[in-house]
Amino acid sequence: MKAGVLALQGAFREHREVLDALGADAVEVRTPAQLAAIDALLLPGGESTTMNRLLDTSGLREPLGAAIGDGLPVLGTCAGLILLAAEVLDGRPDQQPLGVLDCTVRRNAYGRQRDSFEADLGVTGLPGGTFPGVFIRAPAIERIGSGVEVLADHDGRAVLVRQGPIWASTFHPEIAGDLRIHQMFLREVAA
Ligand code: GLN
Repeated sequence: MKAGVLALQGAFREHREVLDALGADAVEVRTPAQLAAIDALLLPGGESTTMNRLLDTSGLREPLGAAIGDGLPVLGTCAGLILLAAEVLDGRPDQQPLGVLDCTVRRNAYGRQRDSFEADLGVTGLPGGTFPGVFIRAPAIERIGSGVEVLADHDGRAVLVRQGPIWASTFHPEIAGDLRIHQMFLREVAA
């Protein structure tokens, strides 16, 4: 199984390092040809407005939307979640998400004082106790479609969700020093 990391901008190296640590066959994805060769894709955190623009200039927007529509398993973290959502609030006027995850997401929802924080999260289906959630200029999920399952929440807000093979978090499992969420995702992909 080949696991790709969308490598247009942001924290893609950190995801790649997690995949390497898990012994996965990891590749960075910047072109439609690279996208066509993978079995799962991680969409990293970073700056969603920039990634949104690079999706167009790289020619990845159409094939990526089609691949996810055809069932490509994806895990989007933070800005990656914003790319997947059906609707983005407080985005740039030209910011057009892929619209594959039935959620409405508000960018930078935690405000300035709480730009970054950490919280231990109970995650459904994750063995081994709570997961250290690292939130950096995190978005909030403000609406959740009926087909979307909440795997973790914090302060009454969903922070890890799943719609079939589409997984997304408002926090950053790739910098938590804990491989279990990637591991759980890859296990499901392989199953
Ligand atoms: N605030 C960023 C955005 O809107 C996301 C933050 C992150 O990925 N750490 O793109």
